[in-house]
Amino acid sequence: MRVVYHRKKNAPLPLAPVALAVAFFILAALVTGAMPARQATTAVGSLSGKTFVVDAGHGGFDNGASGPNGSVEAPLNLAVSLYLAGELRMMGATVIMTRIDENALADTKREDMQKRSEILCQDGLTASISIHMNKFTSKKPKGPRVFFAEGSQEGYALALTLQNALDDAVGIKRKEPLVGDYLVLRTGEQTNVLVECGFLSNPEDEALLLTEAYQMLLAQTIADTIAEFYGVNTGFPTFANVA
Ligand SMILES: [Zn+2]
Repeated sequence: MRVVYHRKKNAPLPLAPVALAVAFFILAALVTGAMPARQATTAVGSLSGKTFVVDAGHGGFDNGASGPNGSVEAPLNLAVSLYLAGELRMMGATVIMTRIDENALADTKREDMQKRSEILCQDGLTASISIHMNKFTSKKPKGPRVFFAEGSQEGYALALTLQNALDDAVGIKRKEPLVGDYLVLRTGEQTNVLVECGFLSNPEDEALLLTEAYQMLLAQTIADTIAEFYGVNTGFPTFANVA
């Protein structure tokens, strides 16, 4: 919107129309969601033209890990993935999900992974984010862990940014991301990361991961971080427009 008005030389600046225009802009921004909710860099449309794969791990015959209080990994991965896909789409991104319900992509692990690989080998992908839940033999480890493919510079940069943002969001000490030897990290030309959202073996993490609020917090944090990393027109330097 461009407001043009003429005024006589030396005439006082008409403040009322200016104030009205500013108020209108703020209101419009609030209504359209363009005003950032959590971070200054997240803007609606900032990811338009970018395509992401959101890969909810496991599914169907393959439940993944399970926690001592009966939590199961596969549906938790799906819940976080659906929230994440929704957030990225709201920012204008195109999102391809490897699964959108409880079913696996095939009847065997081998075929299931083959189908995920095919999705990751498509042209025009910006990045992929695989969502999983962690488990360890001890109850002690907790918090999200982000993995990237060995030798991938951009994978490391994105994983580090995500790890820092997630650690900050859940209120734990910042950690380094980890190299992961997973097929989903090695496949395709795009940047791939894998987020283990928390430890089902840690009772505190398990209880949090079962809540919608925590699932949404993780998804929102991942989406905001992706927007900062790949976003355009945010007015802030990002990896994409600095590198
Ligand atoms: Zn898993």
